[in-house]
Amino acid sequence: MELTLFNSLTRRAEPFVPVHEGEARVYTCGPTVYNYPHIGNMRAYVFADVLGRALSFKGYKLTHVINITDVGHLTDDADEGEDKMERMAAAQKQSIWDIAEHYKQAYWADVRALNIRQPAQWTVATDYVPQMIDFAKGIAGKHCYELDSGLYFDVSTVADYGRLARAQTEDGEGRIEAVEGKRNAADFAIWRKTPPGETRQMEWDSPWGKGAPGWHLECSVMSGAVLGFPFDIHTGGIDHREIHHPNEIAQNQAHCCTNGLDDAANSGAKVWMHNNFLVERSGKMSKSSGEFLRLQLLIDKGYHPLAYRLLCLQAHYRSELEFSWEGLGAALTRLKRLVMAVEQLKTRAEQTAPAAPGPRFQPFLERFDAAVSDDLNTSVALTVLEDVAALKKVDPAEKLATLAAMDAVLGLDLLNLTRADLRLRPKSAEITETEIEATLAARKEARAAKDFARSDALRDELAAKGVEVMDGDPLGWEWKLG
Ligand code: AMP
Ligand code: ZN
Repeated sequence: MELTLFNSLTRRAEPFVPVHEGEARVYTCGPTVYNYPHIGNMRAYVFADVLGRALSFKGYKLTHVINITDVGHLTDDADEGEDKMERMAAAQKQSIWDIAEHYKQAYWADVRALNIRQPAQWTVATDYVPQMIDFAKGIAGKHCYELDSGLYFDVSTVADYGRLARAQTEDGEGRIEAVEGKRNAADFAIWRKTPPGETRQMEWDSPWGKGAPGWHLECSVMSGAVLGFPFDIHTGGIDHREIHHPNEIAQNQAHCCTNGLDDAANSGAKVWMHNNFLVERSGKMSKSSGEFLRLQLLIDKGYHPLAYRLLCLQAHYRSELEFSWEGLGAALTRLKRLVMAVEQLKTRAEQTAPAAPGPRFQPFLERFDAAVSDDLNTSVALTVLEDVAALKKVDPAEKLATLAAMDAVLGLDLLNLTRADLRLRPKSAEITETEIEATLAARKEARAAKDFARSDALRDELAAKGVEVMDGDPLGWEWKLG
């Protein structure tokens, strides 16, 4: 089955043709580590992870790079506002380096919790500043001009500027020309000078004075340095299709060729892929609201993080996905069913030798491959996996091997998760599992002795502590907190 991927540059699904035979080189725009990521941010990395896993499944040797932005990302993606890192450091009265370290670790914890594979390399922006200065020097003469505030890229010097965004080059909508002297509204700073009389916590010497690199420059430099131009696939959230990625592309063109984008290789990466947003009606997705939606909040409320991963897989990455607690609960139930099926299977398969999927499973593997190859249709792939889990009268070891092959793409960690793992105690719960189990055992005894008054009293006692007893739950769950 041929792998097709939707390329934002052409707005078409295209067969994947690697630049280097048998290889896939992927760059993912990573987080700006000035705050905790929200679960919408993490959707972008779940998507990139599934892409990487799918490329591995299709037999390509994957080199995946994700960057960590610790300097240069302003509060507005265009050229307005303050550096996000500087602002947070000032607010928390800490050094930028400490802020970056803290939030990088928090991001990595979410990466692990969501079973996102480690990329070949995490590139940290501040490690690449000399390369950024070299890159900027290389394109400055033909493509840039200097203003008091920095070195600016003139977007009129490359062909097809903004094609990725399908935006108008002139007077790009929503871009306020606040920097005096800019030649085009869409021109952007690739080097921001430290204003006279000020010192920034992060600044470097450059031919344009002390200052810091622009965010767009960072990604051009790190992707090219590690993967080489042109590489195969560049990913990010859909918002990056409008400003950040068009600007990266313009720099890449300036660096390599300035030719138009009809030859996709001139953009630095051949395929540009974007995940759509996770949305939430009440505004909890915004990091500026108090209790915003972090993965840890989901865990604190008793939802296993992989239930969130499954929620993401249920939607196509190019569709908007609406978050709700009900939806997350349903995803958790779906995950529980799968985990229980695999647990039973593991016990049965222990009695037989490990196996590879036999002919009985081939049609399922083909359907799975077709779904994955169709621009990563994970929602269909998931139902194929469930069809396999439901198969009766088949060899358990072969079935297990088939599920493992499928989960290698979906990444739900089905072969390691246990029922017990999925039952997280909400942080607010005051009762321990041992207490719950003891009360339930007492209740069982009371019921056996037909002492229903006592059995009901024990049930009410648990309810008062936030434990719901689930008699006859189809999944065999005896209780839940919530
Ligand atoms: P940032 O740390 O702000 O640079 O964002 C990290 C990644 O998350 C980027 O790829 C964004 O495009 C992406 N992103 C931001 N908000 C959302 C959202 N609500 N849903 C999905 N992806 C998002
Ligand atoms: Zn980027």
